[in-house]
This record gives sequence, C-alpha cells and structure tokens, in this order.
Amino acid sequence: MSFPDAASVALRDSQLRRNLAKATGTIRAKRASVVGELPDWQELRSAGRALKDRSLVDLDAQLELLEERVSAAGGQVHWANEADEACSIVAGVARAHGVDEVVKVKSIATDEIKLNEALAAAGVQAVETDLAELIIQLGDDVQSHILVPAIHKNRAEIRDLFARSLDLPDLSDEPEALAEAARVHLRRKFLSARMGVSGANFAVAETGTVCVFESEGNGRMCTTLPEVLVTVMGVEKLVRSWQDMEVFLQLLPRSSTGERMNPYTSFWTGVRPGDGPQEFHLVLLDNGRTGVLADQVGRQALRCIRCSACLNVCPVYSRVGGHAYESVYPGPIGAILTPQLHGMSEGRSLPYASSLCGACYEVCPVEIDIPRVLVHLRGRVVDTEPAWKPEKAAMRAMYRAFASRRSFERAQRAARLGSRPLARRGRIPRLPWPLSGWTETRDLPEPPAETFRDWWRRERGEGRARDEKPVDGEIGGKRGPRDLGAAATPDAAAAPRATSQNGDARRAMLGRIRQALADRPAPVEVPREYRRRSERSRPEIVDLFAERAGEYRATVRRAAPQELRQALTELCRHRGARRLTVPADLPPQWRPDGVELVPDTGLLPNDLDTLDGALTGCALAIAETGTIVLDGGFAQGRRALTLVPDYHLCVVSEDSIADLVPEAVERLEAAVAEGRPLTFISGPSATSDIELNRVEGVHGPRTLHVVIAG
Ligand code: SF4
Repeated sequence: MSFPDAASVALRDSQLRRNLAKATGTIRAKRASVVGELPDWQELRSAGRALKDRSLVDLDAQLELLEERVSAAGGQVHWANEADEACSIVAGVARAHGVDEVVKVKSIATDEIKLNEALAAAGVQAVETDLAELIIQLGDDVQSHILVPAIHKNRAEIRDLFARSLDLPDLSDEPEALAEAARVHLRRKFLSARMGVSGANFAVAETGTVCVFESEGNGRMCTTLPEVLVTVMGVEKLVRSWQDMEVFLQLLPRSSTGERMNPYTSFWTGVRPGDGPQEFHLVLLDNGRTGVLADQVGRQALRCIRCSACLNVCPVYSRVGGHAYESVYPGPIGAILTPQLHGMSEGRSLPYASSLCGACYEVCPVEIDIPRVLVHLRGRVVDTEPAWKPEKAAMRAMYRAFASRRSFERAQRAARLGSRPLARRGRIPRLPWPLSGWTETRDLPEPPAETFRDWWRRERGEGRARDEKPVDGEIGGKRGPRDLGAAATPDAAAAPRATSQNGDARRAMLGRIRQALADRPAPVEVPREYRRRSERSRPEIVDLFAERAGEYRATVRRAAPQELRQALTELCRHRGARRLTVPADLPPQWRPDGVELVPDTGLLPNDLDTLDGALTGCALAIAETGTIVLDGGFAQGRRALTLVPDYHLCVVSEDSIADLVPEAVERLEAAVAEGRPLTFISGPSATSDIELNRVEGVHGPRTLHVVIAG
C-alpha cells in the first residue's frame, strides 16, 4: 500500500489520533524542557553531526579497528551483508549452544532483518523483554514509534492482551499492575536465559566498546545474565573514540526520552572474565547501508542516532502514526531511510510524506537536513519513473520552460492565455486533469497580466534586460535534471547487492564501503565548543547532584565519614532490608548494623533474586544528570549485583562527583581502556510504555538509595 492510502486508513482511527496527540505532545514538551536548560545545546549538535560524519568518511578503516579491538577483548565479529546472513549467524550461535529460547532487548536493527521470524523458523523463540515490545509481540502487532512502539495501544487494550496471553483474568488496567505482570512474567525468563540478543546504540572503534541505552533494566538483564550475548549492529552506529561519547551521552537521552539521562546505559568491551556473558558475538550489518553511504546527499541519514525527536514534531507523523509508513523506521527518518535502504525499490511514496516544514531538521540532534534529503529523494523517484508519468512529464516540461529566457517567456504567455477561462477573481480554483490534483486542496493565483520582464522592458527598454547564462550543473546548464540525479545517485544503491558467505562477507562489505566513498569526502574537523570544564564550586556540584538524583526519585542522604555507618543502618531499617549482597572488597566502615551481608562469591542469578538488595560503592557520579556510574572497580562488584536484587544502596564519595558529562567521560577513560564494563544509573528502572504513565521499577531494582559520603 502506498503512504497516502495507508495514511487515509490511519486518519480514520480517532483513538489512534488521540493517543498520538497525547504522546507526541508530552514527549515534545519534556524534550524542550531538558534541552532548554543546556546553554551549549547547539554546540553539542554541531559536534554530534561532525563526530558521526567523521566516523563515516573512513568507515572501512574504523570497522576494521573495531573488529580488531573486539577480538582482542575476547569477542567474535561477524560481517553480514544482508538480513538473511545476519539472521543465520544469530541462529547458528543459538544452535551451537543448543538454545531454543533467547531473551531480546528492543532493537530496530533486528526488527529490520526480521530476526524473530528467522529464529522461529530455526526452532528458537525470541522473547521480547521491553514492555512495549512484549505488548507488540503478544498481540502479533507492529511497532508505531521508535521510542514507544506500542503508542497506539491504550491501557484497556493492554490489560485485555495480558489477561489473555499471560493467563491473568483478574488483572486491572492500572499501569503499575500491568508493569508488574510483565515483570513477573519476564523475570523467570531472565533468570534462566542462556543467550541474549541485543542491538547497539553506539560502538567505539578505538576501544571495541558497545553500548545500549534503556530505561527498564531489561537491556541490562539481557546483556548481563546469559552466558552468551549476540549484538546485531548497523555499521553506521560506529564512533571513533571513547571521548565522542561525551557528546552522545548528552544528545541522545535529552532528544529521545526527554530526560537528562535515561535510567540505564550499559557499556561492555568483549568478554569480562567472571562478569557477564562469557561469549560475545558482534554482528556488523550492512543490509543496504553502503548504498545509502554512496549517495552524497542521502548519506547524512546514516548519522541518525534513532532518538525519534523528528517523529514527535512532524505534523504528518503526529496525525497518521507509524503504521502508515509500513517500515520499522517511521516518521521523517523513515521517509528518508527506508527508500534508500531498499535502493529506491520500496517506500517510493515516503519522500512525499512531508510538508517540508523543516521542524524535523530543527530538532535533530545530529543536524540531518531531512527536508533537503526528501527533496533529493523525490528527484530520484521521478528520475526512475517512465517518461509518461504525469509528474515526470510535468518536470520535463518545467525543465524545458526554464531552460532559456525565450522558452520561459513563451511558457508565461501560454499560461496567461490558458488560464483566462479558468480564473475567478484573481484565483484559479480548479485546473483540468492531469493538473487537477494541485487544486484539490488549494487555489492557484492567476498569472499576472504583465510579468516583471514585460514591465522592465516597458520601463527601461529591451537592451537592459540581462540574460545570464546558466552554469554547468544548474538548471539549464550542460547537465539537465536527469544528469544531476545521476551524479548524486549512487551506483551502489542501484547495483544488485553482493551476496557473500562467511569470510567473503567481510571483503564484500569493505569493498562496497570503499566504492561508496570513492568521491573522497573531505576530512571532518570536530568543533568542541561545548562545556568541558565545570564553573561550579564543589559545594554547588554536590548540591546539584543531590537535587538531580532526587528528581529521578532516588532517595538521597548525606553523611559525614563518622556518620556513614549510621546512615546506612537507618536506610536499611527503613527499607526493611535484612540480607544484602556486597562486593568482596566492601570497606568495613560501610557495614550497616543488624543486616546480614552476603559477599558475592559468584552468586547465581537465582541466589541474588532471594536477597533483599545490594550495597555497593560507585566509580563516580555526574551532578548535571543525577547519575551514578559503576565500573566494576573498588567496592562495586559484578554488574549482576546491582541488577537482580530489588533494592540498591549506593555510597557516593563527595570527591567523586563530576559536574559535567565530559568530565566524567574523561575520568572513565582508563576503565574503558582496561575493558571494564560501565553501568550508568539514573534513578530506579522505569517505563512509560503504557499511555506514557511513568511507572517506577520494571526489571532493575525498584528502589535506589544514595548516600553521599564526605
Ligand atoms: S533523524 Fe535526527 S531527530 Fe530523527 S531519529 Fe534520527 S537523530 Fe533523531
């Protein structure tokens, strides 16, 4: 179905339109609020754009570097040219381990390649663990938004679905009850899962580090608890250096969920002995991306960090929703990505699914000029149509009319004469077929009786009118519109995709990347004009952290060194926590009274699940975002410790609080270089997947207590 037909169907669904209006309006307001509080947002956008462009201009070399670093850290890298290849790699890993069920993190790349269907055909069930994705999977439905895929479902529909599928006939439609039902259902899966599958938001070439941003804790569960982890990543997700993350850690959460930082961000590098999956596979996916890279105008779509900000401001998307795009990539980004990924053979009506108002460009955190790409793709669509198609015929007629002054004036005269019988009071309300579509929703002004050129000649005489010669490449130059289209239309997109197997896939993909970059894009300078050093005093930084962590509904207390034990004791008593797991190197002065401490000696997930909570320290905290960061260092233990139990009590040393994200990223550089996994935690786990009602606590700890010591 074309977009206009699918949109007509969607527009008749008034419930959908109400849901969309509420959801997009709410997320828009949240985003505007957190973006507005940063004085350097535009500088961050400029840097984000440059960083993504910088990684694309030598993508082949960066991918090779990523492969080398992941392999050196104990991971295995696979190259997949096509969706089928990627699916069979994942299925092969499952088969090799005798696994018939995998737990899966929300990932658009795996939806794009239809991984779940491929795994099912191979006898492996993929269990979606994000709440919205679970709703979609149980209802055999289709995602309608990048961030909140079940945005089109209301709570009553979700209640009915869960009651039926999870055998819970008495379930209420309160968001808390629905989230709890999902938690109970999925916890059994997490604790017994042997293999996890994820996508990736970014991968850092110089360190081989992969990361996932999320809110519910299901991402942490899937990437931490199973023995085997497979990550499927589009090749465009690459960034060059760890330092680049200081920009994206600010751009993505604020543009996406409208938060200063999303509840959880996990970074891992290959395999960490004793912590997390002991086998890691990274699947590098092309599936049309090298075709996009070959288009000099369209390649900027590969900068996309999938924040969905462009969807929420789009006047078209916010009325028709995601299903009308018939792609896993809806909205403005889908309109430029889907047709390009398919070499313009699918989604040809999508470049027209826009009013070209430019709102998407205004909000895009990596400055993708979506309107420009849309117009460019419209040109590619018209270029590939047969000559008799009305739009193509009209464009060719326009081309001829604009090719010289004489033909332009002839066309003006013809338009003036032809429009006379149609004009009513200076307007043309209705044009005859095939131009009638233009006047279906708008009037056309009647051509003036005298043109500017006629007036000029009358006033100044014939000899004064300039008749500039068109330059090569412009309209009327030596190359016409077809040639212009051809110059910007990539050979790689038009060419049949190379198929390859195993070792050949790597060579084939790298070859296509080099061919796509044959125009040798200029090296990119990264402007780092954003704030990188704090101007706040230490007391201000500590106050800000306490305030921001509290806003994320973490309970925050302060304690002088001699009061620390007492503060921890009181918090445990208040919580009713009697048995806590602790890392083996917990300092003695952190031991709360009256609490049994269970040192982590490799406790299994099921053992951790029986405990009341975990008590740890952290590597550092970030004031501006209210975030604590664990890097597996002193007094922190394994990732599973602060994930499986329902309560996390964390000691933050005052000295360890950084004000800004870039300062924190700089301090974490050594841990990343050593291959230590990082977990960024901002408040308890949370979901807003049910009518955008925020529910605290889904799969990670539902309660976070922070004690600032110092
Ligand atoms: S195009 Fe820009 S605004 Fe839209 S999802 Fe991608 S990064 Fe976000």
